[in-house]
Amino acid sequence: MVALIGRLELVSGGEISHPWDANAYLITGDEPVLIDCGGSEGYPALARNLRRLGYQPKDVKKVLATHGHWDHLSAMALMRGESDTALYVHEADKEQVETGDHDLTASFLYDRSFPPAEVNGLLEDGDVFMVGGYRFHVVHTPGHSPGSVSFWAEIEGSRVLIAGDALWGGFHPRIRSDLDDWSNSLDRLLALNIDVMMFGHGPPTLAPGTRLKDARRQLGVYFNPWFEPFYNGSGGHVER
Ligand SMILES: [Zn+2]
Ligand SMILES: [Zn+2]
Repeated sequence: MVALIGRLELVSGGEISHPWDANAYLITGDEPVLIDCGGSEGYPALARNLRRLGYQPKDVKKVLATHGHWDHLSAMALMRGESDTALYVHEADKEQVETGDHDLTASFLYDRSFPPAEVNGLLEDGDVFMVGGYRFHVVHTPGHSPGSVSFWAEIEGSRVLIAGDALWGGFHPRIRSDLDDWSNSLDRLLALNIDVMMFGHGPPTLAPGTRLKDARRQLGVYFNPWFEPFYNGSGGHVER
């Protein structure tokens, strides 16, 4: 795992748990909370990383999901095997998590099934979760998927954003991506004046605003290489 800022730890990700894993962030404290929990293949490594920080999976009280995709959330069912962690998801991505829909959970990209997981609570724009002494604000940022959310909190004097795949996520009709929604979401995130950005994939950046501005500028031109096989050789540009 990697210590980030304040009580924020990176406990899952392509470099530290399994190559297919999205980043999962643990906020430590008496009642630790995960933002995403990674894919089922990476679950043993996630559990090991939690133990290294002094926690068991059953100590994690909540998983707050950035969205309902395989690489971010398919470990949930395994985690439920040894904990009663409550799962919170935006309503627009809820059903796919509870049914394990092969398309909508993006499981088709990994040729794996998504073990269905019951959702215990909904994330709504404007919700605030007190975690580890920080106020985590929920921002509904659809575009990559309809139920994509981002979280931001003031941590040690910096505005920290955890954007999931709202930044640098892939675009594909099978996961109900929408360019207009995405464009509006990026405008909302830009308006937050974020200092530190963390993503669903790749390392966090401390350069204020830069990558967020790049993402805004490039939207609709460059998508995550993730989806390249589905572009039919159109060089990264996908027809809607
Ligand atoms: Zn992802
Ligand atoms: Zn995704």
